[in-house]
Amino acid sequence: MSTNTTNAYSDFHLQFIAGEWQTGKDDSTNTNTNPYNGDTLVEIQQATKDQLNEAYDAATQAQEAWAKQTPAARAAVLYKVVNILDQRQEEIVDWLIKESGSTRIKAMVEFGATRAITLEAATFPNRVHGEIRPSNTPGKENFIYREPIGVVAVISPWNFPLHLTQRSIAPALALGNAVVLKPASDTPVTGGLLLAKVFEEAGLPKGLLNVVVGSGSEIGDAIVEHKASSFVSFTGSTSVGKHIGELANGGEHIKQVALELGGNSPFVVLKDADIDQAVKAAVFGKFLHQGQICMAINRIIVENEVYDEFVERFLSHVKTLQVGDPNDQGTAIGPIINQKQVQSLRDKIDEAQKEGAKMLLSGEINGQLVPPHVFTEVTREMDIAYNEIFGPLIGIIRAKNEEDALSIANDSMYGLSSAVFTADMQKGLRFARGIRAGMTHINDIPVNDESNVAFGGEKNSGIGRFNGEWVLEEFTRTHWISMQNEPREYPF
Ligand code: NAD
Repeated sequence: MSTNTTNAYSDFHLQFIAGEWQTGKDDSTNTNTNPYNGDTLVEIQQATKDQLNEAYDAATQAQEAWAKQTPAARAAVLYKVVNILDQRQEEIVDWLIKESGSTRIKAMVEFGATRAITLEAATFPNRVHGEIRPSNTPGKENFIYREPIGVVAVISPWNFPLHLTQRSIAPALALGNAVVLKPASDTPVTGGLLLAKVFEEAGLPKGLLNVVVGSGSEIGDAIVEHKASSFVSFTGSTSVGKHIGELANGGEHIKQVALELGGNSPFVVLKDADIDQAVKAAVFGKFLHQGQICMAINRIIVENEVYDEFVERFLSHVKTLQVGDPNDQGTAIGPIINQKQVQSLRDKIDEAQKEGAKMLLSGEINGQLVPPHVFTEVTREMDIAYNEIFGPLIGIIRAKNEEDALSIANDSMYGLSSAVFTADMQKGLRFARGIRAGMTHINDIPVNDESNVAFGGEKNSGIGRFNGEWVLEEFTRTHWISMQNEPREYPF
């Protein structure tokens, strides 16, 4: 781990608008608390609509000059950001633990993913390119320019706040855009203000990145509807995503949207799988960050012949997990983000029992600490299998055979990630290709992200792709410009 020789960032009670740290002008306050012990971390006076407008004005003004800077100049800022992340790794990991309830393991995973996408984005200014296409019109040349979009609105969630914000803002900025960002109310620091400090230190010109902390009712819709942005990059729940999609394309606007939404990842264990390895993967893929990951295992589907053996070994491994202080190196399961989420998990536990699932493992819920709950004899239509859990609960479904397992895996309105375990790679590939999802991993967990590989979902899990060339296309627009080099013949 790197050592931090710089002063820790402070003043997180302020908004970052037009390159200045300013007090929010709304009457309401965001009290940012540590989900493990309830300590108040910072009180933020929230922003008003006028301040949001100020952010958009600053972004619009700054963007033109930024887009004209050389690729090398834009890349340099991103490389500087990587250096600062490295220097401040401990400080950032500490914030992830205390603000989002990340265990140390999860905070390190998130830090690594954030660093990787920043490094990838630093290559974008020099990778982005246009095309020349032949024309069927005599004397014409076709040029396809790839240009920045302009001002991009970014709305991010609380579960991987640093990474899920950075995977939008780093590519957006690298490609010559400006950003107006609204972080989630549970994570205003790691989801926005902390990154603003890093970009400011890296020398990003004023106005290009604005972080506006405000209540959904005051600025939520306004950030989407503002006429200065023509693109909205949203990561969050399917229900809010649908609302944002409608808003972006209702009333006066037709805006492009990228929606990265909820998931219901199946984890399939076929009868020839290495059960030991499948159990280890299932436990990590389910319980990392208390199951609060869009790609987290939401259903375990096991072929009949190995069901009992899998359940027995899975249970004995889950029983070894330490639940508690996320700052403790040995902790596997830390706190749930807020009381509302805890209540939704309580409801799910009750519902699973009501619907006839067998609860093989449970434990007392203590504050925001929810111990693992394991259910067997779960069927595909039960709430615990059909809906997104977002917590440390899991149902294990019995499949009659491979065909049945595939049918169960596909029986979902979501299609984000998925996984299958088998000793036969050809079978695994066939099975994977049969799954209707944006991502499938053979002999691994569904929770995977690589900064150079297409990330995203199908069905109610959203539209659009992150990382590599895919996000490069997402955050730019194409412009066909033709040149008629000799007078053209027109029919009349
Ligand atoms: P959420 O939808 O409640 O909130 C996401 C963001 O939207 C927050 O910043 C929130 O303040 C904002 N928001 C809420 N109402 C709004 C409105 N009317 N207008 C504008 N913004 C509004 O989601 P969450 O609880 O923060 O995150 C959990 C959900 O996100 C889960 O469903 C999870 O699966 C999903 N998620 C998806 C991905 C992915 O890549 N597909 C990644 C992480 C999380």
